[in-house]
Amino acid sequence: MPQTGENKDIFMLENYIGGKFIPCSAYIDSYDPSTGEVYCKVPDSGPKEVEAAVKAAKEAFPEWSAKSPAERAQILNKVADLLEARLEEFAQAESKDQGKTITFAHTVDIPRSAYNFRFFASSGLHHTTECSQMDHMGCVNYTVRCPVGVAGLISPWNLPLYLLTWKIAPAIATGNTVVAKPSEMTSVTAWMLCKLLKDAGVPDGVVNLVFGTGPRAGDALVSHPDVPLVSFTGSTATARLITERSAPFCKKLSLELGGKNPAIVFADANLDVCISTTVRSSFSNQGEICLCTSRIFVERSIFSEFLERFVAAARQWKTGVPSDPKNQNGALVSKEHLEKVRSYVALARAEGAQVHCGEGVDVLEVPDKNVGGYYMLPTVISGMKDSSRLMQEEIFGPVTCVTPFDLEEEVITRANGVRYGLAATVWSQDVGRVHRVARRLESGLVWTNCWMVRDLNLPFGGMKNSGVGREGGKDSYHFFTEVKCITIKH
Ligand code: NAD
Repeated sequence: MPQTGENKDIFMLENYIGGKFIPCSAYIDSYDPSTGEVYCKVPDSGPKEVEAAVKAAKEAFPEWSAKSPAERAQILNKVADLLEARLEEFAQAESKDQGKTITFAHTVDIPRSAYNFRFFASSGLHHTTECSQMDHMGCVNYTVRCPVGVAGLISPWNLPLYLLTWKIAPAIATGNTVVAKPSEMTSVTAWMLCKLLKDAGVPDGVVNLVFGTGPRAGDALVSHPDVPLVSFTGSTATARLITERSAPFCKKLSLELGGKNPAIVFADANLDVCISTTVRSSFSNQGEICLCTSRIFVERSIFSEFLERFVAAARQWKTGVPSDPKNQNGALVSKEHLEKVRSYVALARAEGAQVHCGEGVDVLEVPDKNVGGYYMLPTVISGMKDSSRLMQEEIFGPVTCVTPFDLEEEVITRANGVRYGLAATVWSQDVGRVHRVARRLESGLVWTNCWMVRDLNLPFGGMKNSGVGREGGKDSYHFFTEVKCITIKH
């Protein structure tokens, strides 16, 4: 690991271009969210570095795309093997870089990153294309799917390696080559992955990693004429910029964006399971998951009981230093983000809502060396209007709002009354109602009586401002390939 001159504990990342680790002329500070101290420097890449990476990816494309899916699958499985073998090291690094708990990194981020490679290695072997049975005008017609070329992949900071590999694995399994840009706030595990890709036998230039900020490195990638496809996960505001920058080139775009996810709790719900799951769905990973619940609608007859029990359970959700395996939440990703999340709680107070626990109510104690870290306790709010920014905007932190409802029709309208449509949960033991409500929710994913159960074969993505397109099994295959219709005259 290269060290900086000033402090031997601070290490510097390098870009990975054409199979080589290449230092950059400028660097950005990267903070340890558990202490608030700089601990690593991330390349501040721009158009020059992106140009070199795109060139390397273009050069690698003919050979990689000509390999059979089985040959590529073998290499992807090797990446998964190596990642699983180094799970502990990657989990430690992800936790330190992002602020998430070691337990979450250990049980969710890194196992799922490895599984992403394994899943797309295998699913890539089982797709078929169409052939028309009709002998139309003496011709037979069939379709083939071809890789698109150089894929531009841009990922966020909340599930750094998990979401990056969710893009890299299907992109290369289908024969594309890649230039990826992870979030500048959480680049360490992506950089560690580069070494592992090389060891697994991914040919030089097939995967290139360029580190840096969105406006410099990200923008250069999105607006590069030789990158015909962009898969982006991040905020709706950035997606708008990316759409504008891609439009002149008619790029293929997949956009996985923010959410303002409702949970709807009917009076017949199994409250024990509902409360423990909804605490998890609201606060897991410090509430920094696009699928986290942030509006809880509870049928009025059980509202008081629910609120009391939910607040008590939220208080049990243990927050503290990420390296302690007993903690369920660690630190938020950055000082700016912590301040943004706190500002919503201040807004709640200013609007006359009640803050039942967490921010400004309870006190969190951390060891002296962690007092500069970005910690926030799970916070539960009630008494706000549906039109409040608290109920309309994505907060993306450990804050959730609880509100009563009376009628099924009413709650569907209110749950749909936001610009987002990513994930919803419905809690009821009435199977007819569950189906009725799930069908009418404007949401790409609806979980009933559970949360975040994912079958990677099925489409993942959002409606409305939560996204464009779907990823997962067949959807990723379709996104990362172009279909071609071939007509043979006989
Ligand atoms: P962000 O939009 O700020 O950044 C995401 C990525 O885009 C980063 O790598 C960033 O550097 C890059 N970027 C920023 N500006 C850019 C530009 N002008 N051109 C190109 N790239 C640019 O998002 P974030 O704060 O990192 O992530 C949080 C957001 O991501 C939340 O809204 C969350 O809901 C969303 N998210 C969505 C999903 C999903 O699957 N739907 C999953 C995780 C996170």
